[in-house]
Amino acid sequence: MTRTSFATRAIHAGTEPDPTTGAILTPIYQSTTFVQSAVGEDKGFTYSRCGNPTVAALEKRLTALERGAGTSCFATGMAATTALALTVLNAGDHVVLSDVVYGGTFRLFKQVFERFGVRCSFVDTADLHALKTALRQPTRLLFLETPANPTLKLTDLHAATALGHNAGALVAVDNTFLTAALQRPFETGADVVVYSTTKYIEGHNATVGGALICRDAALAEEIAFVKGTSGGTQAPFEAWLTLRGLKTLDLRVRKHSQNALAVAQYLEGHPAVRRVWYPGLRSFPQHELACRQQETGGGMLSFEVHGGTEAGIRLMNSLQICSLAENLGAVETLVTHPASMTHACIPPDVREPLGISDGLVRLSVGLEDPNDICTDLDQALCKTTHQRAVS
Ligand code: PLP
Repeated sequence: MTRTSFATRAIHAGTEPDPTTGAILTPIYQSTTFVQSAVGEDKGFTYSRCGNPTVAALEKRLTALERGAGTSCFATGMAATTALALTVLNAGDHVVLSDVVYGGTFRLFKQVFERFGVRCSFVDTADLHALKTALRQPTRLLFLETPANPTLKLTDLHAATALGHNAGALVAVDNTFLTAALQRPFETGADVVVYSTTKYIEGHNATVGGALICRDAALAEEIAFVKGTSGGTQAPFEAWLTLRGLKTLDLRVRKHSQNALAVAQYLEGHPAVRRVWYPGLRSFPQHELACRQQETGGGMLSFEVHGGTEAGIRLMNSLQICSLAENLGAVETLVTHPASMTHACIPPDVREPLGISDGLVRLSVGLEDPNDICTDLDQALCKTTHQRAVS
């Protein structure tokens, strides 16, 4: 395809009308196996664990969107991160990870890969001095998540990637919160982009999926080998739904961001709210970095209400349009209590100093009318202040 804009690639890249029927959408190749015309002669697909035409179309599109060299799609985001570790790490290797990451990533490295002799350092990658110090130990992989789940802490991708490379590490960036529509880690030198496609990429709370996109074709091949061998493969129907979701990605993430900014500003002015974390707000400590590194503030925000944990829980239990649930990045607004849900596996003494307090509320702002989201938040916030007044 000629050099086209992101929105155009999100609709067309990787797919062509079906050669036999002209169907404009890539069919769902719901087939385990592919018949070979003779021994050693296949049409590029043999067995769906190793490759499937619908999944391959999604992989091509993600490669084009990120402007990478190759992609492997997985059954979930965690299967993608697992395959990355299985591909690049050996027993005894040292990994540096952002200290604020999705709880499942923390759990995977801490409770699974450490058992195999991988040494993990969770470091404040927003603090370049701390990162440099951690990288003094020979490091095979630097795994960054920015904005980080759930506090939205940012890492300076340009500076952190350069430090990682100077130390000889491979740099992977979990770009789930923004996608290539809003942040492009390859432009700042990253080697691998990691996605939970479950979130904005598919965007409709309909699938779980993951992807690893590589800047270098040789690494993409190694990952594809590990995917086919270890088997955490994406299923064709999931891939088809994700291809469909991608068509509106550019539009959706920009509207998610507009809505999130409106909700963040509303919450910031609300007397029941103690503090809001949203990269698009001027009050966000790394707002300047957000303006430099991301196209918008994104669709995610976190906040704390006055009255601590009890008031936060009352708020979450009182919402009507916003649903209390564990996903993010989809059209429905979802509210999450990280301490008991997405980050429950991180011990309180580790997560509290990182800002993942018992009172923290995470909001994935959806595509409903932002006035309706604010009205719903208002009625729930009023319940928290009313309860404080009577108690
Ligand atoms: N990365 C981030 C930033 C996430 O928020 C999540 C899930 O919430 C994952 C990775 C894992 O993705 P999945 O749930 O698709 O395995």
